[in-house]
Amino acid sequence: MIVPVTVPKAELHCHIEGAAPPTLVKRLAEQHGIDLSHVLNGNGKFIWSDFSSFLKAYDAASAVFKTPSDYALLSETYFRMLAAEGAIYGEIFISPDHAQAAGLSYRSYVEGLAAGMERAKTDTAIEGRMIAIGVRHFGAAAVERVVKDVIGNPHPLVTGFGLAGDERSGHPANFAKAFRMASEAGLGTTAHAGEFAGPESIVAALEFLRVKRIGHGVRAIEDKDLVRRLAEEGVVLEVCPGSNIALGVYTHLRFHPVNILRREGVKITINSDDPPFFGTTLGREYASVADTFGWSFDDLMSVTRTAIEAAFCDPATKNRLLVRLDSAAR
Ligand SMILES: [Zn+2]
Repeated sequence: MIVPVTVPKAELHCHIEGAAPPTLVKRLAEQHGIDLSHVLNGNGKFIWSDFSSFLKAYDAASAVFKTPSDYALLSETYFRMLAAEGAIYGEIFISPDHAQAAGLSYRSYVEGLAAGMERAKTDTAIEGRMIAIGVRHFGAAAVERVVKDVIGNPHPLVTGFGLAGDERSGHPANFAKAFRMASEAGLGTTAHAGEFAGPESIVAALEFLRVKRIGHGVRAIEDKDLVRRLAEEGVVLEVCPGSNIALGVYTHLRFHPVNILRREGVKITINSDDPPFFGTTLGREYASVADTFGWSFDDLMSVTRTAIEAAFCDPATKNRLLVRLDSAAR
């Protein structure tokens, strides 16, 4: 049995608004006079039953974050929780569209989140970076606006650009320009694909968005040639097993393809996606995958190594993280 906290962990796929602990959401809702009884029950659990009620609960919970200091509290809380589970690195997806809905400029949203990350780092040494997300179902113009915001307001902790939202909406070709702009500006890029949509969505993301990381990507398993291609090209999958089970992509972890993909040579990382909504944490994801598939301490160490190597951070930070990782090796 693995003691999860002893394995240094790294996370590449977590939506910061979706990582808000219910206790924090409740506290801020009270402070701002927002009624959340329809999405948060008395036991401090988010209430949802299917994908659309999940999105509704997610948006309602996100709406309690209104000021830069609310966002600072959110990122500080999340990074402290990650560090307490043994994580040494975390990337968070940030959603400028959510911030805009709360009436916040891109710049104050990012500065709020960065302040919280710095506070957590001072106490725990956890490194963090942000990936700005364009929402696919808002259309190409909205996604390009996010890239322009990132490029026009450079921040040392915003190092990536990604695509999220409804995978079935809009062909990746519509977002090729946004991704080209992001790459030319030196941002790392990733896109959600192969979660609800099939393997063809992953092929399209690789072709049109030229990403080297895919959010989820697990449905590649349905196409042998694609699995071979991912392995050969060293594409990294940001796998979120607990999320896939909670949203019904697979019925049970033992039927999840993460183990087969890894055996086939695909680069795998383990992530929590929207942890409190799915009753999980990064530590629990590492532990449950290890328990279900018999992954050893060394297997988990290699998962973290893959994540650090694929991280959207500068080489010096990467090297420091790898030294920390190696110092935990048995
Ligand atoms: Zn996601």
